[in-house]
Amino acid sequence: MEHPENDNAYKGLQVNSGVSSQPIVNPYRHKRATRPRRLTAAEYVEGILKGDVSVLGRAVTLVESTAEEHQAIAQEVIEKCLPYSGNSRRIGITGVPGAGKSTSIDVFGLHVLRDGGKLAVLAIDPSSERTRGSILGDKTRMEKLSQHTDAFIRPSPSAGSLGGVARKTRETIVLCEAAGYNNIFVETVGVGQSETAVHSMVDFFLLIQLAGTGDELQGIKRGIMEMADGIVINKADGDNIDRANLAAAQFRNALQLFPPTPSRWRPEVITYSGYFELNIDKVWDMIDRYFEYVKETGYFRQKRNEQAKYWMIETIDEQLRHDFYTRPEIRALLEQKELRVLNNEQSSFTAAHEVLSRYYDTLRGNR
Ligand code: GDP
Repeated sequence: MEHPENDNAYKGLQVNSGVSSQPIVNPYRHKRATRPRRLTAAEYVEGILKGDVSVLGRAVTLVESTAEEHQAIAQEVIEKCLPYSGNSRRIGITGVPGAGKSTSIDVFGLHVLRDGGKLAVLAIDPSSERTRGSILGDKTRMEKLSQHTDAFIRPSPSAGSLGGVARKTRETIVLCEAAGYNNIFVETVGVGQSETAVHSMVDFFLLIQLAGTGDELQGIKRGIMEMADGIVINKADGDNIDRANLAAAQFRNALQLFPPTPSRWRPEVITYSGYFELNIDKVWDMIDRYFEYVKETGYFRQKRNEQAKYWMIETIDEQLRHDFYTRPEIRALLEQKELRVLNNEQSSFTAAHEVLSRYYDTLRGNR
């Protein structure tokens, strides 16, 4: 029986057959966009090598994904793109918020594209709350460049551990190079640890500074200045020119006290204006000379080799940590041990030792 409630045994309850549903009458239904088909690793690689921007964008999304099945295919794509990568100038650009990074990258970008070739602008900002939907945000930040057909602009992978975000950016560099981008800019906000990460993946590190009140040198971490291959003082325009020149002199003096750089290149200090496009060619002349110099001395190769080693170790570190801290039994044990350590029932060292032993045991069990 269709409706048991209609049985004679029930009194006072009657279920009527309902109204039948309407046929689908939406004439636009067939026009609805369908999801793009999933590509195979070989199709990704083929698209990338052809310079297909939409395939490149999708491949970068895979690299950024935390899903394991995406990571597996992303790693395969990266591996196959590796032989086609490396042929670019990788330039890191840092500066505090407001220093004029976006304005300058817009102008620098057009400057390098004048000589032909292609440019990818990537970013590392682990604090970023910017997510996928905000590509628009970055496009408006670099207004002219974003309209250029030879520029590929990609915001920072969304917030995560610095190591993780940086690794994704480094892998994205490989894909971009395989797609024919022979200029790579990696932007970072000059306020924390991210400069070190950027420094470990670029050939030239540019620090954008502003003329300040005279004590500006104190505000910059010495480590960041030591990493810089060039320091540029932005906003050297209008009645700010004198102050910018003064700041440049102070930076030059400060740099003289630094030990020689590993490349033996002497970092230069240049004033310019991103907004009014003044001295842009001077900045790029410096960068051109740097590349000539390091290619001649062999430092270019040496640094890239060191970076490759560094990223191998970084990736191992990251994977080990991830594996360790995401195991439920380890997390549970850690919680117990934390309590015991806090209550002075066990020392930090024996607690750590026991957690690690358990971890090794689980690994052996997995074999
Ligand atoms: P970011 O936060 O480092 O990306 O800095 P922006 O590029 O957004 O620039 C911050 C502000 O400084 C904006 O209002 C820009 O218009 C202004 N600005 C950038 N470059 C210059 C410049 O060369 N001269 C002057 N006067 N202002 C500039």
